[in-house]
Order: sequence, then C-alpha cells, then structure tokens
Amino acid sequence: MKEKDLDKQESLYRYAEIEKINSICATIQQKIFAAQTKEELQKIKKEYLGKGGIISQIFSQTINLSDQKEKKEKIKLINEWRSKLLTITEKKEQGLNEKELNHQLLNEKIDITLEGKKLPFACLHPLTQLIQRIYDIFLRLGYQIVESPEVETEENNFTKLNMPFGHPARDMQDTFYLSDGLLLRTHTTNVQSRILSENPNTELRIISAGKVYRRDDDDATHTHQFTQVDCFVTGKDISFSNLKGTLELLMKELFGEQQVIRFRPSYFPFTEPSVEVDAACLQCQQKGCEICKRSGWVEIAGAGLIHPQVLKNCGFDTKIYSGFAFAFGLERLLMIKYGIENIRNFYLNDIRFLQQFAWN
Ligand SMILES: [Zn+2]
Repeated sequence: MKEKDLDKQESLYRYAEIEKINSICATIQQKIFAAQTKEELQKIKKEYLGKGGIISQIFSQTINLSDQKEKKEKIKLINEWRSKLLTITEKKEQGLNEKELNHQLLNEKIDITLEGKKLPFACLHPLTQLIQRIYDIFLRLGYQIVESPEVETEENNFTKLNMPFGHPARDMQDTFYLSDGLLLRTHTTNVQSRILSENPNTELRIISAGKVYRRDDDDATHTHQFTQVDCFVTGKDISFSNLKGTLELLMKELFGEQQVIRFRPSYFPFTEPSVEVDAACLQCQQKGCEICKRSGWVEIAGAGLIHPQVLKNCGFDTKIYSGFAFAFGLERLLMIKYGIENIRNFYLNDIRFLQQFAWN
C-alpha cells in the first residue's frame, strides 16, 4: 500500500472514531434534555458523566493511545463534550427545580374567593349575663360586690344567721358536709356572717352572687346546685320601705317598668319580719298559666329586715343599727322570664339552648 493511501485510511479511521464519540455524547445530551424529574436527571448524570460513567470510560481508553496526535484530538473533544454536558445538566437541574417550585406554589395557592370557615358565635352563659346585669344595677346604687367561699363553716352558714345547732331550719337547708366540719354553703347569705362580723357597726351595701348547694328534691325546678344572689344593707333607720324600694327598682330594671311586686308574710330565721316577694306573672299578664300555677303571681325572693340576733351575733349594736336583706335564685328568675321548663337546661351546656341567649 502506498503511503498516501495509508494516510487516507488512517484519517477515515480517526473520523469514524470521532463520530462515534460525537454520537455517544449527542445521545447523552438528548437524554439530559428529555429528563422529566430531578431523580431521572441524577441517574443520567451518574451513569454517563460521573466516576466510572461512559464519558470516563472513553477517556480512559483514549489516554492509553500511543498516537499522540489522535490522543490529543480525542481528549480535547471529550473534555469539550464533558464540559458542555455538565453545563446542560446544570441548566436542566435549575429548570426542574423551578418547575417543582412552581408546581408547589400552585398547589399551595390560597384562593381568597373561597368562603371561609364560620366560627361559632359565642356568648356568655345566661346565668353569667344575669349576674353581670344585676351587678351593674347595684353598682349604680353604690353597692359593693363581694364574693364568699362555697366551702363554709357551720358557724357562718347557720349559727351566726340565727340557726343554732338543732334549729329546725337547718333541716330545710340540708347540704353536703365535708369531713373536717366544713360544708358546702346552702345560701349566699353566708356573706352576711362574714362581712357583718368583719365590719361591726358599719353602714354597708353589699351584693353577692354565686353557687349554693342543697340536698334538694330532684325535680324539674330543683337541683343539688343552683345560683343565688344575696343583697343586704346595714345602717341607721333602715326600714321596710328601703327594702321595697330596692326590690321594686331591681324588678323593673330586669323585667320592665310594668313589673309589679307584692310582699307576703313569711318566716326566715335570719330576718324579722320576713316576707316572700312575688312578681306579677308576665307570661300570662296575670290571667293565670302553668308558670304562675293559675295565681297570676310567681314567688321570686325571700326578704326581710335583718334579724337583730344576726346583727348581735356579728357584733352590731342593734339600738343604733338595723338592716334589710333579700336573696333569690337566678335560675328561677330566668325560668319565669323565658318559660324554661327544666332547671337542668342551665347546666347541660347544650349549644342549642345557650345560643338563644346570645343577645349581647
Ligand atoms: Zn302566669
């Protein structure tokens, strides 16, 4: 073979080899372009461009070539391809990252035109609302709000209030006794024992509300626990007219100007004289209904002038000081006002019942 022919053949061989490299690398390039996910791209990168990948293998083969010209030419080509493919991979990776981010943003996009979640409309419990209303009225009249403990001594709950040990009225207010001689108070009147004893011979105007406990009959209008308000005033020349005026004002504020009340003689150990306070039945306009038991009147409170013995027990000089007091159950007042049949409705926390009082 002539030298010229040999050169030509060698040249064709090189051309074929170079085309082979170009073809392989072009295929890798297509694969990179076609990758749909980052995972797919990583796989291609490892398989073709990483250590031991196809490009590395071609490079290893090339580096051992004895023909320096061919070696140089091929290494240059491989390096160019490697650099190009790495750049394409990097751009592709950026593109996939952006695609992923956009997809995420689209999924997490907040649609402000969608209807929001409706929060339930909350209101204070009807008993709390009534207590606040009563407190508001009495604060205007210059009264002081006082709270007293629900766990009380026998002395404060009974003895000081003119119910000594063995007094039959103690049976009427039978309660829950605790092991250390204490009991759950049967009325908020325990606040009288405490405040009067702490402030002998003082002019006082006190209003107090809270839970009281009795071992009571279990029917629609009685439970072992209910809520009571106790109000009392001490001073010089306190009379029944002060009591009546205060009660009338309270009832008109709560039930309206047309509300009428009446007094009936009664007995309580801690007041003398004592009265039951009746309110004209507003459910039937005094024509007679179930609530007023056809009488036109409903019993709402117990009242009277503070018994002199109670004042003496608490250190008051009864020649100078007198006082009035009254107490009533709040559940009963609301039952009369709204025609509620069972006292348990106040404690069941049934949202359908409570929502009816969301007037505030
Ligand atoms: Zn009635």
